[in-house]
Amino acid sequence: MASNGLKGIRTVRDLNVEGKTVFLRLDLNVPLDDGKISDETRITASLPTIRYLMDHGAKIVMASHLGRPKSAEDRQFSLEPVARRLSELLDAEVMLFDDPASDGVKSLLVGLKKNQLILLENVRFVPGETKDSEEFAQVIASYCDVYVNDAFGASHRAHATIHALPKLMKEKGVGLLIEKELTMLDQLIDNPKRPYLAVLGGAKVSDKIAVIEKFMDLVDGFLIGGAMAYTFLKSQGHPTGKSLVEADRVRFSGEMLKRIEARDKTVLLPIDHVVTKSITDTKSMRTTPGVAINDDELGVDIGPKTLVQFETALREAGTIFWNGPMGVFETPEFSRGTFGVAKAIAESQAVKIVGGGDSAAAAEASGHAGQMTHISTGGGASLEYLQGDKLPGLEVLRQRSR
Ligand code: AMP
Repeated sequence: MASNGLKGIRTVRDLNVEGKTVFLRLDLNVPLDDGKISDETRITASLPTIRYLMDHGAKIVMASHLGRPKSAEDRQFSLEPVARRLSELLDAEVMLFDDPASDGVKSLLVGLKKNQLILLENVRFVPGETKDSEEFAQVIASYCDVYVNDAFGASHRAHATIHALPKLMKEKGVGLLIEKELTMLDQLIDNPKRPYLAVLGGAKVSDKIAVIEKFMDLVDGFLIGGAMAYTFLKSQGHPTGKSLVEADRVRFSGEMLKRIEARDKTVLLPIDHVVTKSITDTKSMRTTPGVAINDDELGVDIGPKTLVQFETALREAGTIFWNGPMGVFETPEFSRGTFGVAKAIAESQAVKIVGGGDSAAAAEASGHAGQMTHISTGGGASLEYLQGDKLPGLEVLRQRSR
């Protein structure tokens, strides 16, 4: 499989932005805890493009979604805390414009000073955003000269500010974050260094079945942990107790294992576990001697023997893609497997790329985030891209000649 990468897509460096009004779609969808930003990775990841545009004399109108508001009345999804933090980080005035669906921005743009930027309020306050509304896109297109998408984490969605809007714009391209994401992820698609291992975990097999399916021909082996491992173990006839098993996926998982093995690829599943009587109970936790789990227990982490096996495999790897924690890592007692795997990945000489979402949080919590080659800012978007799916937000930016 060859990546499409940036083929036919201009980057912000190829665009003439001096004196132009640039619409910059960002992914500022940060987690908020009681109105406070609990992880500002997505904000800091957006800074290089914003600074580039400021340095090159653009008038900047930024936009992002935040969470899943039902209407504009859902004020807990306001971008206000983000605007405040952006102002601090950029040492500039970020003006939050309340109604993203109005062209009132035009009057603000007239007097916009060098150190002022506009941020539209949460675009999902506008019903047309998730409907890919051309009408909403038209309003924005009426006051912008150039369109830049740097919202990698939202580029797999055909939403108005990701898809309908750039369709209307002639001058368009991606920002520096998307450029970096694609360059990094392309290392996994175009001639990855062998052996190439995919470390998969997390709670839902159903979410990751497509990933395994598509990765089967790309990788040399899978290391499977987390709750999804129990569905696979069950398919092999092992007792899994009260562990999270997706009953309707057991047969399919078994067939999948056979297909992987038929391709001469390795699959490492847990050979021991940390188990407990209930997910919130750390007192009853113990390590199983083998693969079997008692009827009244559930698996919450991979065991120490499994970790050694995983570490040995990871040491030899040329390329590693990690998506999904090995256990309930949010509980310190059940985090050893996930953090051990994070350490082994960090210490390997491989190209090591972490998919977004929970894996990024786990890498961060393990203290090894800094040693990874790349931690993607897009969970769903990075998985879809790596599977070879076309992301609407990127396809709309491809032009025949550069
Ligand atoms: P996902 O979004 O599918 O990557 O799942 C991430 C979540 O899976 C994390 O919040 C983990 O706590 C959870 N998880 C991982 N292992 C287990 C397990 N053995 N039992 C229950 N939940 C788990």
